[in-house]
Amino acid sequence: MKQEHAVVVGGSIGGLLAAFGAAGSFERVTIVERDQLVDGVDARKGAPQGRQPHAFLPIGMKLISEFIPDLRDQLIAAGCPTQDEIRDIPYISSEGWRMRIDSPLESIGFRRPLLETVIRQNLLKLPNVEVHAGSVIGLIAKDNLVTGVRLKSGEVLECDLTIDATGRSSQAPKWMEELGYDRPAEKHVRAYMGYSSQLVRLPDGALPDGTKGLAAMPFPGHHTGGLIFPQDNGLHIILGVGMMKAYPPGDRESLLEYLDAAPTPLLGQIARQSEPVSDVSTYRVSGSQFRLWHQLDLRPDGFVVTGDAVASFNPIYAQGMSQAAQGGIALRDALSNAHEDPRPLPVRFQEGLAKFTEVAFAMAGMADAFYEGAEVEGMDPPDPAELEYFMNLERLSGEDPDVLLELAEATYSMELERLETVEIRAKVQAWVDSGKPQTKTFNPAEIPGVASIVRG
Ligand SMILES: Cc1cc2nc3c(=O)[nH]c(=O)nc-3n(C[C@H](O)[C@H](O)[C@H](O)COP(=O)(O)OP(=O)(O)OC[C@H]3O[C@@H](n4cnc5c(N)ncnc54)[C@H](O)[C@@H]3O)c2cc1C
Repeated sequence: MKQEHAVVVGGSIGGLLAAFGAAGSFERVTIVERDQLVDGVDARKGAPQGRQPHAFLPIGMKLISEFIPDLRDQLIAAGCPTQDEIRDIPYISSEGWRMRIDSPLESIGFRRPLLETVIRQNLLKLPNVEVHAGSVIGLIAKDNLVTGVRLKSGEVLECDLTIDATGRSSQAPKWMEELGYDRPAEKHVRAYMGYSSQLVRLPDGALPDGTKGLAAMPFPGHHTGGLIFPQDNGLHIILGVGMMKAYPPGDRESLLEYLDAAPTPLLGQIARQSEPVSDVSTYRVSGSQFRLWHQLDLRPDGFVVTGDAVASFNPIYAQGMSQAAQGGIALRDALSNAHEDPRPLPVRFQEGLAKFTEVAFAMAGMADAFYEGAEVEGMDPPDPAELEYFMNLERLSGEDPDVLLELAEATYSMELERLETVEIRAKVQAWVDSGKPQTKTFNPAEIPGVASIVRG
C-alpha cells in the first residue's frame, strides 16, 4: 500500500532523481525548491555549477535510464552531440597521450541546465509529483520520527518521508542536532581546485582532424590544465582547471594564457580560435567531502539524505550526477523491499547509496590525496603501493588496448574491483618485470591518430 506524502527538499538533479525514486511508493511527492525553476540553458542561483561543464559518466546514464529510458534520444533531439570518449576526445596525462581507439564509451555534450530541464520535464509528467516554491529552514519531528519540514515563510508541510537533497551546503547535520541527534562523521580530501570556463563557438577546422574536444587535466606535479568539450547546439566549452590553489583566472585573455600552461600547448592554441558566447565563470571548491549518514548510530525515522548533501566530489571526476542517480535508484529499491529487509527505511536507503559513494569517494580521494600538501581528514591516507599500482596500470593502458578499455570502463562504471583482479594485477606485474617498455608517442603538441587494433 502506498504511503501518503513524501517531501523532497531541493529541486536540482539530486532532488529530481530522488522524487523519481519516491513517486511509485507515495500518493504525493512534493519537491520544495527555493529557486524559481525555469526551463532552458541558463544557470540559476541555487545551482551555480550550471555554468561549468558537466559530463555524465556511462554509469549515471545507465542508472537514470531506469527512470527515463529514452533520455539519450531526448537529449539528442534537444541538440546534444554524442562522442566516443576514448576515440574522439584526445586525453593527455602525466603518462602522455592516451591511446585513441574505437570504444563503447559514449558521452553526451550538454549544458547542465538543459539536462536538468529534460529530467524535470519527464518527472513532472508523473501525475503525483509537484514543485512547491519555498526555502526549508528545519524539520518537525515527534517521537523519533520526522513528520515534515518548516519553511521560511512559516508554512509547515507534513509528510511521511523527508528527503534532503539540498546539496553540498546542506543544513541537515544542524537539523539533526536541533532534534537531539549527533551529526554524521565526515571525510575530506582537500586539494583546493578551481574552474574557469567560457562557452564558445569553434570555427570549422579549429579542432584537430577526427576529434571533438581535448582534455589535458592537472596531475600531481602539474597543477594546471583544462579541457575543450562539446556542448549542446553547436557550442563548446573551454575550461581551465587548477589544483592546490593554482586557480584559473576570471577573464578571457588570462584564461587563454592559463591554458597555454596545460600539459599540451594545443589547448591554448585551439581556445584562441574560439568566439566567446558567454562571460568567463569561475568556481572554487576546497575538495571532496563525504558525510557518513549510513554510519549514524541513532537517527530519526522518516528522514534520508541524498546527492551532494551526502558527498560532493572534486568535479574533475564527474561523479556527482551519477551518485544522484544512484540515490534515486537506492530510494526506489529501499521503499519497495521493506518486506525483505526489516531495518528502518533510512538505514536501508543510506546503505544502498553508500555502496556507490564509498567507491566514488575512494577513487576521487585517492587521486587527490597524492597532490603534495593535500589535506586528508577523517580517513587514512591512501597507500602509496596502491598508487604505484594504479600509476602502472595507467602507464600500461598506453600500450595495451584491453587494459585501456578495462580501466576506462571500470572508472566510468564505478567498478573499481574490475581493476584489482588477479589477471589484471598479473598483467601489470609482468609489464613492470619486463622493464616498462615505452612505445607510445609523448609529444605534447602532437595528437596520436586512432589506432586500429586487434584485441588480445
Ligand atoms: C564546478 C562543478 C562541476 C561539476 N561537474 C560535474 C560533472 O562533470 N559530472 C557530474 O556528474 N557532476 C558534476 N558536478 C556535481 C553535480 O553538479 C551535482 O552532483 C549534481 O548537481 C547533484 O547535486 P544535488 O542536486 O545533490 O545538489 P545541488 O545541485 O547543489 O542542488 C541543491 C538544490 O537545493 C536547493 N536548496 C538548497 N537549500 C534549500 C533549502 N533550504 N530549501 C529549498 N531548496 C534548497 C538549491 O537551490 C538547489 O536547487 C559538478 C559540480 C561542480 C560544483
